[in-house]
Amino acid sequence: MKNILDTGIKNAKNVNRYIFGSGSLKEIANLVHPIVDDPNDYCIFFVDEFFRENEEILQNLNLKCKHHIIFVTTTQEPTTTYVDALNKKVKKLDTRLPKVIIGMGGGITLDVTKAISNLLTNPGSAADYQGWDLVLNPSVFKIGIPTLSGTGAEATRTCVLTNKENGLKLGMNSDYSVFDQIILDPELIKTVPRDQYFYTGMDAYIHSFEALNGSYRNPVGDAFSRIAIDYAKQVFNSEDIFSQDNRSKLMVASYMGGSAIATTYVGVVHPFSAGLSVVFGFHHCVSNCMTMRAMEEFYPAEYSEFWRMVKKQNIDIPKLHGNKEVTESHYDQLFASTIIHEKPLTNALGSGFREILNPKKVRELFMKI
Ligand code: ZN
Repeated sequence: MKNILDTGIKNAKNVNRYIFGSGSLKEIANLVHPIVDDPNDYCIFFVDEFFRENEEILQNLNLKCKHHIIFVTTTQEPTTTYVDALNKKVKKLDTRLPKVIIGMGGGITLDVTKAISNLLTNPGSAADYQGWDLVLNPSVFKIGIPTLSGTGAEATRTCVLTNKENGLKLGMNSDYSVFDQIILDPELIKTVPRDQYFYTGMDAYIHSFEALNGSYRNPVGDAFSRIAIDYAKQVFNSEDIFSQDNRSKLMVASYMGGSAIATTYVGVVHPFSAGLSVVFGFHHCVSNCMTMRAMEEFYPAEYSEFWRMVKKQNIDIPKLHGNKEVTESHYDQLFASTIIHEKPLTNALGSGFREILNPKKVRELFMKI
């Protein structure tokens, strides 16, 4: 029987090009103009709604070509329905497809950008492409500009979407989901609220240690993961997590962590975290941090290290119990939406993961969260 972890991703694809450095956002015009060179052509910006009140950042981009700006809702994690609606909206803008699409924001905005770029050149709806290597045609040229660091969405070959109809939280894992170009400008993460900076930054740390503790490995991915962990630890063990040096390090950690995950799988944390997001709507990165309360037996060293950093930075990690009423039906849903992630769970615990994570055990673990 073929190992379910063997998806054939042997020929790893990373982002084609990247620009790194403070102030590098202003390079956007130089990148877009050569591609959008016909006056009838245009590009589209998908911008995190966080920047609605900070529009000068967009006005300073000096774009001479035709362009549209679409604000992306980030109060909720993206659903397949949301992406389908946005795709329809984009198709109504013009008879031509955009020449370039640019995503500027956190993981949600970047993932929405990737999903739309795939859907513009592929028939059907978002749910048709949730899985591995289902996207048929190359997507529209896309540029990613992260304004939050940690999830690694700027580097990964996926864009995570929740399908509310079947409770599946799964991305379009495809080489076509990878950005053609990214801009890493540490100035852009200066204004992130402190707790969010921590939650998001920790995503790089968490998925990297999950990868390194898993059975499905790639030596290049391992090297990326080690750097991501090392940098995240340097940032969150320091006195000033927002220093210029630390913002640069966190951007690199995020990029490295995202590049690592392209060649491997996460472990136990992400499936539990996905359960919290699907059932209770907690955002991905805060869900990961909450899940860490139940992870001592799976990742003892990282468990201690994580909670030391939380304490040092005096970060508030919300509790499920106390925040939400958790009913029996919720526990059933939590179990279902956790255990569905068979690839990461196999990576962490082996093909017999269902014997370890039976409903009673999963319930006990969620009780700790
Ligand atoms: Zn993650």
